Amino acid sequence: MSSEFKHWKLINEIQVTSNITLHKYVSLKTGLTLAISNVPTPIVSGTFIVATEPFDNSGIPHILEHLIFHGSDDYPYHGILDVITSRCLGELTNAWTEISNTSFTLTTAGSEGFLSVLPVYLDHLLFPTLTESGFLTEIYHINSEGGDGGVVYNEIQMCENNAWEITNREISKRLYQGSGFQWDSGGLTKGIRSVTLDKVKEYHKKVYLPENLLICICGRINSNEVFKSLTGFENKILTNLKKTNSNFSNQNFVRPFSNPIPKFLKSVNLTIDFPDDEGNSTGIVRIAYRIGNYSNFHNYLSHEIIWDYLALSPISPLVREMVDIEDPFCSSISVEYLEYSITSCVISFSGVPLNKLNLIEKKFVNILEAVAQKGIDEKRIKDLIKLNIRSHLNSLERKPNSVLSSVLSLDFVFGSHNNNNFSQLEELLKPFKFYQNLLNHPKSYWINLIKFSILEQPKIVIVGNPSHKLSIQLLQSNKERIEKRKEKIGVEKLKEYGLNLENAIKKNSLSIPTNVLQQFKQPNVSKIQLIPLITINNNKKNGNNDSNNNKGNNNKEKGKGKEKEKEKEKEKEKEKEKEKEKEKEKEKEKEKEKEKEKEKEKEKEKEKEKEKEKEKEKEKEKEKEKEKEKEKEKEKEKEKEKEKEYEKEKETEQKQKQKLLNYFQKDGITIDSIPFWIQLDQIPSYFVDINVVIDTSNLPNKYRPFLELLRELIFKTPLYLENNKTISHKVLVEKMERMTVNYSANIGLLASSEFEAGEFAQLFVIRMRGEIDQYQKIIKWMKRILWFTRFPAKRLRIATKTLLNQIDETKRDVEFMAWSTLKYLIFQKNKSNHVTNNVLIQKNFLSKFLNDLQQNESKSVQKFEKFRQLLFNNISNFKIQVASDFYKIKNPQIPWVKNNFIPKNLFDFEKFPLKSFIPSQFLPIQSSLLRNKLDHVHKNDNNNMTNDNNKHGSNSNNNSNSNDNTNSNGNGNENTNSNGNGNGNTNSNNQNQNNEKKSNDDDSANTETKNDMILASNDLQNTIKNKVIIIGFASIESGQLCHALPSIDNFENEDLPALMIAIEYLTKPESSLWKTIRGEGLAYDTSLTLLIEHGYIYFDIDSAINPVQALKQASKSIKNFIQNNQELNKDEIQAAKNRISCWNIQELETPEKVTRESLRDHFRGVKDFSIKNLKLIHAVSEKKILFVMKKYLSNLFNGNSQIVLIVNSSKIEKTIKDLQTIGMHSIHFNNLDDFNL
Ligand SMILES: [Zn+2]
Repeated sequence: MSSEFKHWKLINEIQVTSNITLHKYVSLKTGLTLAISNVPTPIVSGTFIVATEPFDNSGIPHILEHLIFHGSDDYPYHGILDVITSRCLGELTNAWTEISNTSFTLTTAGSEGFLSVLPVYLDHLLFPTLTESGFLTEIYHINSEGGDGGVVYNEIQMCENNAWEITNREISKRLYQGSGFQWDSGGLTKGIRSVTLDKVKEYHKKVYLPENLLICICGRINSNEVFKSLTGFENKILTNLKKTNSNFSNQNFVRPFSNPIPKFLKSVNLTIDFPDDEGNSTGIVRIAYRIGNYSNFHNYLSHEIIWDYLALSPISPLVREMVDIEDPFCSSISVEYLEYSITSCVISFSGVPLNKLNLIEKKFVNILEAVAQKGIDEKRIKDLIKLNIRSHLNSLERKPNSVLSSVLSLDFVFGSHNNNNFSQLEELLKPFKFYQNLLNHPKSYWINLIKFSILEQPKIVIVGNPSHKLSIQLLQSNKERIEKRKEKIGVEKLKEYGLNLENAIKKNSLSIPTNVLQQFKQPNVSKIQLIPLITINNNKKNGNNDSNNNKGNNNKEKGKGKEKEKEKEKEKEKEKEKEKEKEKEKEKEKEKEKEKEKEKEKEKEKEKEKEKEKEKEKEKEKEKEKEKEKEKEKEKEKEKEKEKEYEKEKETEQKQKQKLLNYFQKDGITIDSIPFWIQLDQIPSYFVDINVVIDTSNLPNKYRPFLELLRELIFKTPLYLENNKTISHKVLVEKMERMTVNYSANIGLLASSEFEAGEFAQLFVIRMRGEIDQYQKIIKWMKRILWFTRFPAKRLRIATKTLLNQIDETKRDVEFMAWSTLKYLIFQKNKSNHVTNNVLIQKNFLSKFLNDLQQNESKSVQKFEKFRQLLFNNISNFKIQVASDFYKIKNPQIPWVKNNFIPKNLFDFEKFPLKSFIPSQFLPIQSSLLRNKLDHVHKNDNNNMTNDNNKHGSNSNNNSNSNDNTNSNGNGNENTNSNGNGNGNTNSNNQNQNNEKKSNDDDSANTETKNDMILASNDLQNTIKNKVIIIGFASIESGQLCHALPSIDNFENEDLPALMIAIEYLTKPESSLWKTIRGEGLAYDTSLTLLIEHGYIYFDIDSAINPVQALKQASKSIKNFIQNNQELNKDEIQAAKNRISCWNIQELETPEKVTRESLRDHFRGVKDFSIKNLKLIHAVSEKKILFVMKKYLSNLFNGNSQIVLIVNSSKIEKTIKDLQTIGMHSIHFNNLDDFNL
């Protein structure tokens, strides 16, 4: 360490895993704590943690979290952090408030940008401006109509009355009475209304101190460089301390949470109401108790293990007896831990039928008593301990930053400072010793834990009861409160409030001087080190099969060679043109000289001389320019060298591919002899990750809604093996717990939640991930899951009921329901998994299936079995991705050989030849509602974009559905893309017909299809076309709006990079849209998102007090921008490009993400999409951005896009009228059930 950084005292050095080392320092000058974890990832992440104890429900810690971003002493510009972070290849900043601390994040690609932003960010934390104008817009204000507003106020209002928040508050209040943990750190609306800026400032002064700040950094970064970047900041702290005549270890600072916590001695039982739309759906029950001192980590882990045993999976006693039964007590059980200085455990039962609400506690106690009496399954306890060890390692590989920063934060707030025991950190990061210890505990240890540490502990039991009455009351009282206020304040004062707000908005929008921005230089992307991936596959149809690598690759190289030659030719032409221009210039100069000579004759000699001198100077300048040109040429040469390097890299990649192939292909087995599509991704990892991806496109539509039930059930059902052996669903779950770190089935790529499809919705994905030594076993069980699972009536009934109970819970989530409704409208009804998997379809579908199961059990079981076979018995619909460090596996090819992986006699391979997965099949299956989408865009271009909403309505009706296959993108250069688009649609139509034919073979197909699934699509579409769908909810105060506009659905579309920049440019913080919506406190948030694989651009407004006003302002802001040909700000374009680059690199952050990208690329139809996009993004011109803005966004908010708006039921009438004033027509539904079209 260089001597100038000596004051950074190293207090911990921990080797966390073989490739993660952590160093923790304390500054002896300022008291700052700094932890640097070296992790081999291209992303550098920072988490800055301040311990913030709340003292009431006014939400001051949360308020500060927001105000910190409104400028600092040295950088007094609202929002500057996001602007400079973007310039420095960073993601937008983020922050959150927990009960114990407030955390702020900074994430950049590479370390260069991180080091420039770090001191500025910290300046914001310790020296924020905390202005009145920031407080009014960001926190709270009374508007000119007497209502409440402000970003934080909206945020809290949105959630403070939901069942979880209400019960959370009761738990904290009673379990931790007399300490800071009893409060709500986010604040309650009542508290926020009463808070003042002075109180906030006072709190900041007491708590935001260097000795109370922990800086965690994770990634590839050099400690000395971090120290160096902190020098100025530390000096500033010292200067400030001198001013106040104090030093950092001043006696006045009371470390948060240092007061003792009063004991919790007496159990509490209570029932509380929470507002609910229906009031007759389901409730929740929560049981909480204290575990003990946080420093007793061994005890804490024991509780974690015993709760995994009791409630983790379908074989856990609580789940087995309360959820996984015919008449369930609840739809799910979850366990969470309050990690404070005294830890607690909260067990939650959700989706509880009303008649069971009061039975939960008794049942819970009975089950635990029975376990304590009958004894514990020791083997399973041990499995679970081992699972916890694996999961810890897995988390460190998958999300190192979040694991490390949360452990460091716990240790910082509750650990080392309070008892000065630094060794605790290492134990928390490497808890293996404790786990080993737990493995040796006898049965009696666990039984005593249940008996004495759980059952005999004082508890809080809260029964949460849904109440329609309460939701009405809450709204009423709020209304009355505002009316009273208006009367009290009077008109004049309200006007003043309005003016104050206007002034505050003006003050906040002070722009950042360019010279300030230019201090932050653009980092060099090429310096960033990526995680290496080598991928091989046996894709035969595409001709780039890796086993044939010589041929395939030659082709590729030739292709590239041609491109390069073309580029070279272009360059030559350019050079010729330049030479011509130079000649022209020379001629011009000659002419000028002649003229000058004439002039000279007229002028005096002295002047001549002067002019000559001037000319000489000019010539000198010209020479300088020539030198510059030479330099440019040198740069070009450098670039050429880079290209050569790139080619070398390609060569080594080829060698590595060959090496992997050689390793895999042994004993006469080749990758080609594997009779299904397989892709091997070689990656540095401790784990093996297997994804079986099944294309559901050809599934007959009437079976499609079963996918949700299959997802729910496939890992919880019995197996019937080839040798007539049966494996119960319990054993299956046990095996999974023993082998994997996680396993899942999903609709679409990436984990999706219930009733929501992930990316590429037409795929069904089964995934298992485990340690490398489990490779053979995992594949064996994957085979069993795919072909030997069976679904008896009882299992089907239980799963169906569980899902139905979950639907009641889901329907309370307004945001989720708004999106579900929108997807229901914009994707094809029977064909798209976005719709058939949708909560709006599933409720009826599952109720009917449950009824069928009761009426005619065997027929229903057969129907599901038919569905299973259709999905799994055609291996040409499979794509299998295996990601691991293959060199650590002996004979990795053997389990995949035909007779090992595929059950004998199951398939006739001649009948099912291997086909290619054609990416175009995964294009979105949109409904025809908005089908004539881009025609309209084209028209707009020609019409100079009129801004008449009514006219648009009639326009689009005339065009409707007529010509899907016309060159919809217009503009000539888009032929291939729009054809691709048209073909996509035609494909899906053909498949539709095929499916119908197939369905005809099935006796019940016709009638059932009509009854179950087919919606009166034409009528529906004519009714809703170009209309806003308004749905009433009784229990919400602010509105939720989402909006879809058809857009690019092809990952190779040449407009794509420009459109991504355009969207980012328009919606970034401090853009006019952002300022209008969030900056003025009209809504909590707004966003514009392009989902290419959906083929839509989505716009949404979250939690708006007046959503139509917000919509109007948003529309005005974007249209103004596009129509007035506003000039784009070069710095901001660069920032938008950099942010997108950062996201692209983030997609490659960990080994798991790298292989996930590799799988996505397959369905995108573009290899290395993220890396290619990086290059394309930076080449986009300003002109092109303006062009795509007009082409794709001028139609936003007009007809031919779809809007769903959820508002409070009492506001429907007003909303309809408000929409009319901005030329929008609407259809309303009083509640969700009415909407079920
Ligand atoms: Zn917030």
